[in-house]
Amino acid sequence: MAERMLQFTHVAQHQPDKRGVGERRVDFDEIYRAFKVEEAEAQSGRCSQCGVPFCSVHCPLSNNIPDWLKLTAEGRLDEAYEVSSATNNFPEICGRICPQDRLCEGNCVIEKSFESVTIGAVERFITDTAFERGWVRPIAPRIERSQSIGIVGAGPGGLAAAEQLRKQGYQVHIYDRYDRIGGLMIYGIPGFKLEKEIVLRRHALLEAGGIQFHLGQSVGDVDDAETIAFSTLRERHDAVLIATGVYKSRDIGGPGSGLDGIVKALDYLTASNRSGLGDTVADFESGLLNAHGKRVVVIGGGDTAMDCVRTAVRQGAASVKCLYRRDRANMPGSLREVGNAEDEGVEFVWLAAPEAFLGDGRVTGVRAVRMKLGMADATGRAAVGPVADSAFTLQADLVIKALGFDPEDLPTLWGEPGLEISRWGTLKVGRTSFMTSLPGVFAAGDIVRGASLVVWAIRDGRDAAVAIQSHLAEREQVIQRVAAE
Ligand code: FAD
Ligand code: SF4
Ligand code: SF4
Repeated sequence: MAERMLQFTHVAQHQPDKRGVGERRVDFDEIYRAFKVEEAEAQSGRCSQCGVPFCSVHCPLSNNIPDWLKLTAEGRLDEAYEVSSATNNFPEICGRICPQDRLCEGNCVIEKSFESVTIGAVERFITDTAFERGWVRPIAPRIERSQSIGIVGAGPGGLAAAEQLRKQGYQVHIYDRYDRIGGLMIYGIPGFKLEKEIVLRRHALLEAGGIQFHLGQSVGDVDDAETIAFSTLRERHDAVLIATGVYKSRDIGGPGSGLDGIVKALDYLTASNRSGLGDTVADFESGLLNAHGKRVVVIGGGDTAMDCVRTAVRQGAASVKCLYRRDRANMPGSLREVGNAEDEGVEFVWLAAPEAFLGDGRVTGVRAVRMKLGMADATGRAAVGPVADSAFTLQADLVIKALGFDPEDLPTLWGEPGLEISRWGTLKVGRTSFMTSLPGVFAAGDIVRGASLVVWAIRDGRDAAVAIQSHLAEREQVIQRVAAE
């Protein structure tokens, strides 16, 4: 080990190369190239094999990072894949889109003096290689159980739970209102961060492992005549998991906010992703949800806003500006993504907030005011307030609102008054039982946490699967005891 590891003092950090700006501005392919084998080995060898690995401590999945780095450095990639996939259902996806600077890499002990180990890129490399070499096999449960679980939502939370439960031999059915699996991984996150084939190849694998998908099938949706009532789903399955995510966009009011040409981020990104997947999207074709040739203003400073500005660049917008009320240091979005957006030609207008939308029927501009930062509030974030007499106007043909997401008004949606929600509008579950207030009904992912991350949804899905399994085992014992009495 001594020879291959602890190389950080003389091997510099090297993230995978990015494609040139000119090339990547015109397509939706991922911007980072894959590591070559020798690069992955050399970068893995920089790890100092910490006794207490803070990288793992700060990974929501507690991945055994030092172990798979060592195996990669030693060229034992098949073993690295086994270790990596033991704790993560989608390592190649997390390796691409986790905000590593806030999680594993941001807590790597060599970060301060030598720059962190490139953990995410190696994680992606291991599983991409495993796919290429045919090591990724469909689930083959050792036993088949008769009990079935109905999962609502084929996002990362629902999929991770499904895979874990299927491994134990349960009959797993996933229902999703969309026609493709992946949730926000397929229709929210753009291809330049996560190419769609990466998600779709997981679909084929999960299906080959016996998970049954019911796509284009909503549950509990009163506006959909084809919907399955939630009560029907409960009767059909021994347990139900709700992993439906959060989709209600935070809105912005003020004069002119109802003008044409002011759209929601998720509508805009979904249209772009669907069009890229070959679907006909009327609002994209008509130009309503297409930035081509337009002066675009995106409002917001999170990762969704970054995805919108960079999508607009690729659609051939005339100009793309991002309006954010705080400054660069206080924005919630990943600084790496801000850097990528700037390289691609996005202009950031920091410390500015919209106060009115201008236009006659259709938006032609945004009137904004300058903002100033004040003292930190109770959450530790700097308060913001407007600067007097500082209004200015940005010309705009398309305004995209990217202010974050909230849960829907759940009890009304499901028609289930027994399903308790928290004061934040998320589903209430037991801390470790993952069970909602309805017996045998569990929940995981954003619908429990509020808008979060793919890696946390995977974690919740895995934990919920364990909870469901012990619930079903207990129920089975009770049935057997009663039968024996
Ligand atoms: P979702 O992924 O939202 O999946 C929920 C599924 O449930 C959907 O497929 C939906 O169709 C289905 N569903 C909902 N209601 C019903 C119903 N009534 N009947 C049937 N099906 C239903 N996270 C990262 O880690 N990295 C990123 O770079 C990143 N970028 C993001 C970019 C954008 C634009 C957005 C919006 C989010 C991003 N996230 C990112 C967050 C991440 O995508 C989510 O935290 C994660 O997908 C949540 O997983 P989930 O399984 O809880 O829900
Ligand atoms: Fe880092 Fe995410 Fe991988 Fe964990 S899952 S090691 S946080 S990239
Ligand atoms: Fe290796 Fe960094 Fe993790 Fe330590 S914290 S085990 S150096 S990756």
